[in-house]
This record gives sequence, structure tokens and C-alpha cells, in this order.
Amino acid sequence: MQGYILNITKAKNEDLIVTILTQKRIYTLYRFFGARHSTINLGYKIDFEIEYQLGYLPKLRNITHFGYSWLKEMQKNLTWQQFIKLYYNHLKDLEEVESFYMELLDKIAKKLTKQNPYRAIIEGYVELLEHEGRLHTEPYCFVCETHVEDPALARAFLPAHTVCIGQESFSKSKLSYLYSYKDAQFFDDEEIQRLWQILLQGL
Ligand SMILES: [Zn+2]
Repeated sequence: MQGYILNITKAKNEDLIVTILTQKRIYTLYRFFGARHSTINLGYKIDFEIEYQLGYLPKLRNITHFGYSWLKEMQKNLTWQQFIKLYYNHLKDLEEVESFYMELLDKIAKKLTKQNPYRAIIEGYVELLEHEGRLHTEPYCFVCETHVEDPALARAFLPAHTVCIGQESFSKSKLSYLYSYKDAQFFDDEEIQRLWQILLQGL
């Protein structure tokens, strides 16, 4: 089975508890410490097997890591891991998931080969918002419920007036292009950083 490592917590004796997102489910598995075991890390895509044992957490076995060419690029890897942590928080209470969530990670991971990580993730995040019916394209401020031209964005990219949330605004047309085409090319790097900071507040 294939999946992404969304979370790793330490158990006793350097053993690990590993949360993995697959096409259909999220698994929480036990990984025994072993010197000859390959290292695993947050955000890795792996192939693995599950060994079930009555009364215990199932075990994570026979791991193969699918390496991405960008994994050695520090900035890309760290940005990816930041997003993976948010993804985990977003999905952690679920057991069954739609295949959308793993496919979205596949898509973003592939884009990271060539693209700036912040741009790739922001574009992916807009897909997530749209998929979950949370992409607000209507020109209304969620605070005062009146029309807003160039909106500032709150958590989950909720539109608002700059005065209503005390944040700078974004161009309506650039947002509209991003929302329609899942393409952030018209934002400059400063705007991308502002969008990224909003994304970091939580998915
Ligand atoms: Zn307002």
C-alpha cells in the first residue's frame, strides 16, 4: 500500500507511532526501533505493509521510500513539512478519507520539482478549499456582510475589508485568476508570502 507520512510521535524505546494517509484511509501504526530500518520522515511518500496483531496497534512493516528529487533542497522540504503538519491537523480525526486528499499531495509533490514551494502549495490549497465547498469567491466581507472590492483575507482565505480584519488587501482580479485556474502566477513574491502566512494559520 502507498501513503504519506502525516505525523510521527515517539513511543517508548525509540519506537514510533506513525500516521499515514492512503487513498482511502488514515492509519495509525506502530514502528519498532531497529538499527537496520530505513529512516522515515514527515511528508515522505512510502510503500508499506501492515501487520495486524490482536490487542495492539498494527505494525508498520516493509517500508520503501519514494524519493523526490527536491527532498535535498532544504527550503522546499521544510515548506512541504510545514504544509504536511497543517494537513495532519486538518484530517487527523478522520479514519476514512476521499482519494482527493492523497491525490492532492501527489500533485503538489510533483509540482515541487519545478515550482516555488509556496506557490505550489497555495495553488493546491485553493483546490482543497474548492473541493470542500469553502472557497469564497463572492465579493462580501464575512465580518460586516457588505460588498468588498479588493479583499483582505482571513484564515481559510475568507474575504473581508482591510479595516474589518486589519490586514492588507489583495487584487480582486489576481485572486479571481488564482481561484479559477489554480494558478498563482500573477502574485509577486511579497503577496505570495502574505498568502502563505494566512495559510499557516490553519487549513
Ligand atoms: Zn467588512
